[in-house]
Amino acid sequence: MQATASVSRDDERRVFGAQMARLGVRLLNKYGRVLQCEACEATWCPQPAADGSLPRGFWRCPNRCNW
Ligand SMILES: [Zn+2]
Repeated sequence: MQATASVSRDDERRVFGAQMARLGVRLLNKYGRVLQCEACEATWCPQPAADGSLPRGFWRCPNRCNW
């Protein structure tokens, strides 16, 4: 995701949260480091890459609810 000067961190988090909600995933803490599946309530912690970006498909439930 490309950050721009006009987008605050709060705005980024709101957009990110909305995207996750569409995928059936909840953010369990304010840093968005713990995700929970709304279908089966499994939780997981996606590990960011060295540059801080999250891996492709990090939002996928380990039980494949939203694959
Ligand atoms: Zn699930």
